[in-house]
Amino acid sequence: MSEKVVFLGMGGTIAGKAAQAGDNVGYTAGQVAVSALLDSVPGLQLALGGRAVLSEQVCQIDSKDLQHADWLALAQRVRQHLALPEVRGVVVTHGTDTLEETAYFLSRVLPPVLQQKPVVITCAMRPASSLTPDGPANMADAATVATSEGARGVLVVCAGKLHAAAHVQKVHPYRVDAFDSGEAGPLGMVEEGRLRLFNGWPAVNSEAGLVNLERLSQSDWPRVEILVSHGGAGGALVRSLLIAAPGDAPVRGIVVAGTGNGTIHKDVEAALRIARAQGVRVARVSRCAYGQVVGASTQARSGEFQAFGLSAVKARVELMLAIAADTQP
Ligand code: ASP
Repeated sequence: MSEKVVFLGMGGTIAGKAAQAGDNVGYTAGQVAVSALLDSVPGLQLALGGRAVLSEQVCQIDSKDLQHADWLALAQRVRQHLALPEVRGVVVTHGTDTLEETAYFLSRVLPPVLQQKPVVITCAMRPASSLTPDGPANMADAATVATSEGARGVLVVCAGKLHAAAHVQKVHPYRVDAFDSGEAGPLGMVEEGRLRLFNGWPAVNSEAGLVNLERLSQSDWPRVEILVSHGGAGGALVRSLLIAAPGDAPVRGIVVAGTGNGTIHKDVEAALRIARAQGVRVARVSRCAYGQVVGASTQARSGEFQAFGLSAVKARVELMLAIAADTQP
């Protein structure tokens, strides 16, 4: 049976089109089908080592508008493909804006046994119609990674760098090299069609896949909101979250991007204690660009809000999945 690499399209700038080829900003994301994007990748066959390609459009969106249902659709398609023995790995073309959340989500919901194969998410900062699109090279690099010896887990490839889902973050609104892995650094580089891995593949989280995707598809996802603690902050925002407007789901969790080591303005903290007393789960992270809450553990000490060693957007995914898992029968 010949091996295959599956390309799943989610939309994004990589599939974007502008009226003028010179316009790298005024374009519409999610216009070009992933099958057409594949035709624009020079050297794809070489990168794939002659393996067959299968492509499928999962959705066609600007990833700033991503919905939970899009995550679910993607996770289900990835899971189905990875389970096939002939599939070597999956490449996902995705918008850059929420790519790190999608990567983290997949790394938490795909069962560890399936994550023994690679899911490589790639993107572009210039639309497909650009005079100098970066998408084709990123797709070729993603193909190289997906077919590299030992590749596993949820990975991100952009601008020649390979990142792990746990650490990757978009750090620039325009630069082609828009992603960074902070203090952890990238896992490796793709150079001239070859992967140079610095320290081996990241370990797959053995607790991944605890949330049942079928259950998630049948129920409403728990509503988890993010707020930032800052100078002059007050409790009004938290108090307003506790009153669900007609048609809105009640809030089940709040992630606070705290100052420094995850500290929270005393007035916000007082309001959060009221929220917690009403059954809302509260998690705190650091709003600092580097590092994480020191002393972060999934178990809060008595009276403390639980701290996550994650960015606020990834902590939101984590808390949402934790609440969903707790309420699953
Ligand atoms: N707004 C676009 C998206 O996330 C940006 C991009 O892909 O670079 O879909």
